[in-house]
Amino acid sequence: MSQRLDAQIANIGTRFRIFPQPRFLKKDDGTPLFPEPEEVTISVPPGEMRPGPADGRMFVVDAVDKLPYGQMTQPPYRGASPPPVRPDGEGHFAHLDPDSREFAAATMYATVRRVLDIWEDYFEHRIDWHFESDFSRLEMIPLIEWDNAQSGYGFLEFGYGRTPSGTIDHARPYCENFDVLAHELGHSIIFSEVGVPSSPQDEGVDYGGMHESSGDLTAIVALLHFETFVRYLLESTKGNLLTVNGLDRVGELSDSRQIRVAFNAKRMSDVGTEPHERSLPLTGAIFDTMVEVFQQGLVQHGLITADLRDRSTQLPGSAADLKKIQADFTAAYQGHEKEFEKALLDARDYIGRLLAVTWGSLSPNFLTYHDVLRALVRADREVTGGANQPIIRDCFAWREIGPAASSRLLRPHTLQDCGLRTARPVDDATRTIWRKP
Ligand SMILES: [Zn+2]
Repeated sequence: MSQRLDAQIANIGTRFRIFPQPRFLKKDDGTPLFPEPEEVTISVPPGEMRPGPADGRMFVVDAVDKLPYGQMTQPPYRGASPPPVRPDGEGHFAHLDPDSREFAAATMYATVRRVLDIWEDYFEHRIDWHFESDFSRLEMIPLIEWDNAQSGYGFLEFGYGRTPSGTIDHARPYCENFDVLAHELGHSIIFSEVGVPSSPQDEGVDYGGMHESSGDLTAIVALLHFETFVRYLLESTKGNLLTVNGLDRVGELSDSRQIRVAFNAKRMSDVGTEPHERSLPLTGAIFDTMVEVFQQGLVQHGLITADLRDRSTQLPGSAADLKKIQADFTAAYQGHEKEFEKALLDARDYIGRLLAVTWGSLSPNFLTYHDVLRALVRADREVTGGANQPIIRDCFAWREIGPAASSRLLRPHTLQDCGLRTARPVDDATRTIWRKP
């Protein structure tokens, strides 16, 4: 979401609290990485909120003793539930005790609503539900007795993580996991904006990888809307966000699944056809594009030198290079924390808009990663006039994403192939002149 709209919403919307990352992620000293939930404001004004929480697009129902939906069951849930969660006297939901069941219900609603707000802004239009022919609103069920979670046609229902011994871990409710909820909403956005392959002959290998990658990119771009998360990321890296072998630099954050996905170093030759694995080079290429645009912004604002940018974008030759790069970033970051933060948010908003334009233009049929790359290059022309196309091309080339070796696109066409010249020209190129039949 643009920083301007975010500031506007903060004045008119409804306030909630969300943990940017799960409470079970710990610092090296054993204390939680994000001990307090961060206050966020969603776009719906207090006057339009309903108890639940609920609004015109979605609602939470805290189902009691519910079994997961299966083949024969679907929304709406008609069983027992406690009274819906109500706002404070001014219509906000930020007052709830983080250890209460009400908080879990409210934070699930707020997470999905906030991520939808963010992406509707990047798309510059309302994102309609892909299940709208059957249901007008998304049903969200926060805490069912299940060591799993699922998003389905018209619903999201979430249980808990698992303990090492395989039992339900009530300390890890999925409904409070921002990354998981945002990822699932990302799938909904792709269903709505890209659609699904229509031919049974279409194996959809890259389509499957694109779906998983989009879920993760939906989440990471949304995660970069938390002030606490952005500050933590910059503090631990000093703005040195190059992803190749970057996990060691993000320190305690490297236990975050979303960070591990973003900072991956996989190329196409490292992965197979399983969608989650296959998603990694695509996610990496797009996250790298964001990082390169961020660094370009730092150079443009005189915050780092072009030389440091160039050194940190190439594969470093030695540990000494890496140390020097980090030392240079640390020196540049000190005293310029706010400017670094602004540059990162600008890069975030660029990549958010770029992805929305890209996803809005993709056909789901026989989709390849090369199609995604071409759509990104075209989208950049729309968003920046083509300024970042070289960055996109470089990031995708490093990940080995390009036309398939067998693609007809790579086949040259000689004049003979085109019938513009006979196979054995007896004289010069004048034979290519078209003659009236
Ligand atoms: Zn997924």
